[in-house]
Amino acid sequence: MKEIILIKNGELALKGLNRSTFEDILVKNIKRRLNGLGKVEIRKAQSTIYIEPKDDNYDFEEALERVGRIFGIAAFSRACVCEKNMEDIISKSVIYLENTLKNIKTFKVEAKRADKKFPLKSPEICRELGGVLLSHFNHLKVDVHNPDVVVNVEIRDYSAYVRAEQIQGAGGLPVGTAGTASILISGGIDSPVAAWTMAKRGLRLNAIHFASPPYTSARAEMKVKTLLLKVARYSGSINLAIVPFTEIQDEIANNCPEDYFTLIMRRMMMRISERLAKSSGSLALITGESLGQVASQTLPALVTTDNVTSIPVLRPLIGMDKEEIITISRKIDAFETSILPYEDCCTVFTPKHPKTRPTVELCEKAEEGLEIERLIEKAIAETEFTYID
Ligand code: ATP
Ligand code: MG
Repeated sequence: MKEIILIKNGELALKGLNRSTFEDILVKNIKRRLNGLGKVEIRKAQSTIYIEPKDDNYDFEEALERVGRIFGIAAFSRACVCEKNMEDIISKSVIYLENTLKNIKTFKVEAKRADKKFPLKSPEICRELGGVLLSHFNHLKVDVHNPDVVVNVEIRDYSAYVRAEQIQGAGGLPVGTAGTASILISGGIDSPVAAWTMAKRGLRLNAIHFASPPYTSARAEMKVKTLLLKVARYSGSINLAIVPFTEIQDEIANNCPEDYFTLIMRRMMMRISERLAKSSGSLALITGESLGQVASQTLPALVTTDNVTSIPVLRPLIGMDKEEIITISRKIDAFETSILPYEDCCTVFTPKHPKTRPTVELCEKAEEGLEIERLIEKAIAETEFTYID
């Protein structure tokens, strides 16, 4: 039995944006994300996006999973393709809907006739198919007001489609409709969640990771790439910049007061990230910071890191508890990777008594012994770029 995926206009999470631009970007994203599963036709017609496999070996279940991770789709459904006559619609429906209908109590049939030449009118289609389903599944009752399941029949130009349940989509806006931003990604729990949260609002992602070999290992870098791959299953491909950070950390350790290590490190990260963002077309930075979670995330501390950048720093987790963040981390299958114990550059240099009430002036004073501009330029010159997909 041939199946397709249908995404209806009402199931798009569109609000306020230009609808056709939005849909074009969404269709492009769907095409890209279903790449490699076999031959498929993806088209937009009459307020519906059709995803129609053209290949007997098409991996339909995998396609459903992938569609479920594409932002901009609030809901979608799988539908059975029938010939445009009641015999075929009925005989296929009985088989196709069996699993759904045997587990529920009430249903109703709704029909829509885009092809007005079809001999039966919509209420007649409902009555005929409803009658057959009732006699076939004799535990069922019709409930037109509050049915457990609505069976939909749609008569289109070339085929008829029968579908029952809606599947919940990833919601959000299509990636690419909101511009591009750079996520500062560590190997921790928070930053992958922050990346996912902003991609959900339509941002295309670039990523920046600061690596400090030999304090941090190749495994730690692999971990970051694995985490980005998890995010990319939702956001689509991500350009990753890996910035060498060892020399900067050594210079901070040798030339700055210990209670400022973390703050100065964060300020250096922000300065470098802003430059990388600008040269890669990112309009903002994204971090996984959450207010008060650690000493460098108190409000005075955030003021000192914001102070060295002139582009917006998006902090989607700022008002979230760790539990809420972990729930998302698990949902996007990042958690098990995030908790692997590989060292991060921040943990290597954690001061014993970090400053929790710093000021910009105090930070600037603590940085006086640092050759900031030379270090930034060197780090950027030695940055390596890769592609996560
Ligand atoms: P995470 O769980 O994301 O590591 P965290 O709670 O451990 O966050 P910090 O280590 O203080 O907090 O880092 C705060 C934010 O700074 C991170 O969410 C991330 O956006 C950024 N960051 C930290 N370390 C790095 C790094 N090595 N490379 C790039 N960004 C980093
Ligand atoms: Mg961390």
